[in-house]
Amino acid sequence: MLDNSKEVQMTSERTASGSKNARFRLNIRWLIFSSLIVASVLPLLGLYKWMEKSAVQKEIAYVEENHLIIAKNLAAALERYAHDVVAVFELTIKSLESTEGPDFSESLDEFDLSFVALLDDKDNVLNEVQAVSKSTSQRLSYTQIEELRAQASINPGQSVFSGIVQFDGAPHISLGRIVANGKFAVSVLSLQYLIELQKSIKFGALGHSMMVDQNGLVIAHPNPEWQASSKDASKLSVVQQMMAGKTGVAIFYSPPMQADMISGFTFVARTGWGVMVPQPMSELEARAKASEKTALLIVLAEIAALIVISWWLSQLISTPIRNVVSAAAKVSDGDLGARVMLSEAPVVISEAQLLGTSFNRLISNLQADQHQLTAALSAAVEGERAKSSFLSVMSHEVRTPMHGLMGILELIKDGKLEEDQRHLLTVGQKTAKNMVKLLDGVLQFVKLEANAESSKASAFDPAELAQSAVDLFQSLAIKKGLSLTTSVSHQMLLGDPQMISQIMLNLVGNAVKFTKEGQIHITSEFRESGTGSARLIISVTDSGIGIADDLQSTIFKEFVQVDSELARANEGSGLGLAISARLAQLMEGKITLKSEPDKGSCFQLDIPVTLVEN
Ligand code: ADP
Repeated sequence: MLDNSKEVQMTSERTASGSKNARFRLNIRWLIFSSLIVASVLPLLGLYKWMEKSAVQKEIAYVEENHLIIAKNLAAALERYAHDVVAVFELTIKSLESTEGPDFSESLDEFDLSFVALLDDKDNVLNEVQAVSKSTSQRLSYTQIEELRAQASINPGQSVFSGIVQFDGAPHISLGRIVANGKFAVSVLSLQYLIELQKSIKFGALGHSMMVDQNGLVIAHPNPEWQASSKDASKLSVVQQMMAGKTGVAIFYSPPMQADMISGFTFVARTGWGVMVPQPMSELEARAKASEKTALLIVLAEIAALIVISWWLSQLISTPIRNVVSAAAKVSDGDLGARVMLSEAPVVISEAQLLGTSFNRLISNLQADQHQLTAALSAAVEGERAKSSFLSVMSHEVRTPMHGLMGILELIKDGKLEEDQRHLLTVGQKTAKNMVKLLDGVLQFVKLEANAESSKASAFDPAELAQSAVDLFQSLAIKKGLSLTTSVSHQMLLGDPQMISQIMLNLVGNAVKFTKEGQIHITSEFRESGTGSARLIISVTDSGIGIADDLQSTIFKEFVQVDSELARANEGSGLGLAISARLAQLMEGKITLKSEPDKGSCFQLDIPVTLVEN
């Protein structure tokens, strides 16, 4: 369980350190928000730009279509009017020819004809009828009649319309028709109806209609001056097109309006008049601008709505994640009571809610596990403490009477004793000594476990420590026929001589104990590093029974002894190496072992020391 949690911690640390290298750290709320905005607002702006561009084009297309229809309708109306005028003109001619025909003076009035006159080949009036309202005796000039006669003679049997002529002080249009026997009929048409028709057509602020005669002279126009003076508009390209009998839409510059105009134009086939309906381009652009403005307002309203929705969505998605993150941060800081705040809003994202509840369940389980672990740990610590204090008390309690016992045995030895009694006493003394040794070992081990010992530095010579060990075990070695030698070199070092000595005595004692024949040799090595620190390595090498590979690490554990003939023959506690290893640790060093069964062992004590300058 503990190992697992360590692994989890390591993984999370690795992930965190990984993210430290990230170049961009993105905030989830802003990430979602900006993604939604980019994904929705950009296309909208694109749409707006497209609408803005196409608005003017749409207006132009609309105008092109509609202006042309108006122009065509106007031309059709004029066509009918001309037809009616011709009909009245011709009926009146017929009545004039037959002296007893009906009176058309009212009809002439109705169709804006001032009079109809029947002339002989010398232009003398043979017969004539006046419109009721017209009492004038004004006549067309000789030239006007001759021009009309010439025009009519090209189209014999047809009534023809002249271009604009001045009559009775105002612009008119004259009609002429060749009648049988060199007779010629003439009439004059006022422009009143045409002007009214022109006036009736208005669209937009300045959109209007305009009519020109077959020579490009203005018949009817909103500009009264142009109209009164029958302005020659034949120079305008659009007028030229009408005069050429074309129909269409044109954009041109209008001098009287001082503006670019768009106009539908066509012509009246019967009379050769041109009809056009122009409108300033600026009006189209203004209308396009108005629809652009509406589009802009709609787009802005949509963007505002999108921003609000995106913000709300980003909050909806990111808040639960942020809640999990903040709870996880608290948990990783050790607050296992931290829980993810679950949203109580009417709208939630179910996966995010599930993430929160799962996290909370996970932490609750973790908290329960931790409670159990803490309880188990404190029980274990308590048990360990009880064990240590028990061992310590027991050792003390047993050690004191043991010393008393040993004193008594010593006193008895001084008295008169039989040989076998003396032998038993010696065995008893040895057993008591071993027991005290074991108790001392237990006591020291307990102290070391409780961290109650620390190393104390003083100057020492490792060669002297090695020599003392040799001196102590030499007699035993000689007894076993072993050679025990030291080649540790003299050197004054700073370290803990007491701890080093205890380790050395233990290693040499074990070597003598577990070697049947051969030699035990103590060597040393002094390794200096450039930085002023140095290491002392003392090796105790024997030609003893050796230790199998799989046991080499376990013999450093307390109370571990390898079962062997020699171990059974010698007293031991299994504490020597455990104590030695802890002492080496206290000096920030270590003991290593190289051994081969039946060949021997080499124990190495490796500790940091300081060279004492002489
Ligand atoms: P003990 O009091 O039994 O010697 P140690 O902790 O000193 O306790 O040693 C533990 C065991 O390690 C010994 O019982 C022995 O089996 C093995 N051992 C220690 N030193 C040697 C050695 N030099 N050669 C072979 N075995 C050894």
